[in-house]
Amino acid sequence: MESITVPAGHGRAFTLSEGQRVRLTTPKGQQSADFFAFRDDDMTDWLSPLHTWMPTRALHPRVGDTFLSRLREPMIDFVEDGADGIHDLLIAPCDPIRYAQFGVEDHRSCIGNLVEAMQELGRDVPIPPPAVNFFTTTTVADGFMFETPAAPVAKPGAYVVLEARMNIVCAVSSCPYDLTGPGWNINAPDGPTEILIELH
Ligand SMILES: [Zn+2]
Repeated sequence: MESITVPAGHGRAFTLSEGQRVRLTTPKGQQSADFFAFRDDDMTDWLSPLHTWMPTRALHPRVGDTFLSRLREPMIDFVEDGADGIHDLLIAPCDPIRYAQFGVEDHRSCIGNLVEAMQELGRDVPIPPPAVNFFTTTTVADGFMFETPAAPVAKPGAYVVLEARMNIVCAVSSCPYDLTGPGWNINAPDGPTEILIELH
């Protein structure tokens, strides 16, 4: 088994072969992990939250669900959930534009983390895709997404286990979001913390 620690607010990338499993953990809890995946042989085909929930009808992914690519190919199976279903398929990853809109320049972002981490593997990201947001608290009812609660609820040690259905290259961002006020309490009040990646 290989372990990779994603430092708080940063990103790391890794490959998974068909049938290989990965476990993602928020050791301290309350930390969103933005998860991206691409076909190993075609970086223009990526994991799509929108295509994923169409057949499952589930806006929060569940064990047994299969994450699909934008070309509707099965990419990843959700095999174990140690986070009580606290995951999101709707929120776009944070990027420098969003922080600039909040009046903050030069802030780390999940899209920046994705590009940086993929560059370390020698991969270019043609167009930054959306992410599956593990350990992210959102509440959807009657067609509306309610403001996140005062503090996100993923517990310390919350984890997920995923199994690749094809050869893929993945990235995990410890979401650097640390602003207060706009009604999005994405991470712990004291700021972002690390994410643990364990490759089996
Ligand atoms: Zn983010």
